[in-house]
Amino acid sequence: MKDLAIIGAGAAGMTAAIYAGRSGLDVELLEGGVPGGQTLNASLIENWPGYRSILGPDLSANFQDHTQQYVEIQNGIFVEDIEKIDGGFRMKTTAGEREACAIIIATGADHRKLDVPGEEELAGKGVSYCATCDGFFFKNRKVLLVGGGNTAIIDAIYLHDAGVEVEVVHRRDSLRAEKSLQEQLFERDIKVHWKTVVKEIKGTDMVESVVIDTEGTEQAIEVAGIFAAVGLVPKNLLAKKLELELDRFGYIVVTRKMRTSMPMVYAAGDIVGGLQQVITSCAEGAIAATTAYTDIKTPYWADDAPE
Ligand code: NAP
Repeated sequence: MKDLAIIGAGAAGMTAAIYAGRSGLDVELLEGGVPGGQTLNASLIENWPGYRSILGPDLSANFQDHTQQYVEIQNGIFVEDIEKIDGGFRMKTTAGEREACAIIIATGADHRKLDVPGEEELAGKGVSYCATCDGFFFKNRKVLLVGGGNTAIIDAIYLHDAGVEVEVVHRRDSLRAEKSLQEQLFERDIKVHWKTVVKEIKGTDMVESVVIDTEGTEQAIEVAGIFAAVGLVPKNLLAKKLELELDRFGYIVVTRKMRTSMPMVYAAGDIVGGLQQVITSCAEGAIAATTAYTDIKTPYWADDAPE
């Protein structure tokens, strides 16, 4: 049985692994897909101290290199189930069973879907949730970018600067994105369809057009693609298996020390909601690993009430 298993190798999980590995814990880091999480999907990151601007995939590669100095990242090992056993937890994974005394859940969040006809059928055929990954394919072609948050606006700027003809579709008359991003958007004269929602995505083999509705008036716009950046939904399968306390949006409820409602289970990163920045995910990962270390050495339930 390992001291600690960290589930998910995004910013939070990798930082937790660095801290846990350096503290001398016997730790394993399990990643269902490839390392990086939302950092890997991010186009430009402009608020990571030390870099005025860095591409998400580059920052993610730096995290990966650094993590592997201390802990091997076990890619492609998806944790399907988890149960409490005597003295720890047993996980059923796609590579067999694993056991650990303590668990950090850093499983992150998925892209929210638009939930409109055509979206599922044309996913990967012009419907995308990752501008950095797929923007290149749309150079000199027209696309719609849906959403008004930070991700949407960063992605719109990224696509525009990559030579894609991008128009933003946003359901309200003001953006949620921070002011400096809004300024960069407006400087580029990127068209925004205000008070507009997507009704349908059309196409046979590839996206051909998108039907939008602006305050009751529908129109079909011919586009080669549509990018959705309408927020995140927590990947809380394992939290539900352990019956951890979740908030009304499905995020794991944690204390300031990243303890969950179950002793020896911690959570960090997008799965706990909050600010959902790379830097806060890293900070939460560091706190979770430090608390896990303390609890493994001196179980807190033997002392005072936990924070
Ligand atoms: P977000 O901030 O939740 O924004 C989601 C956007 O999508 C909102 O504009 C929302 O509209 C819209 N939306 C939600 N559901 C929709 C639907 N069904 N149809 C159409 N539009 C819909 O999500 P995010 O941009 O992915 O960001 C997630 C978190 O990461 C946030 O905390 C964000 O601050 C953070 N983040 C930070 C940075 C950074 O560099 N600072 C970069 C990226 C992300 P309404 O505005 O009307 O609700």
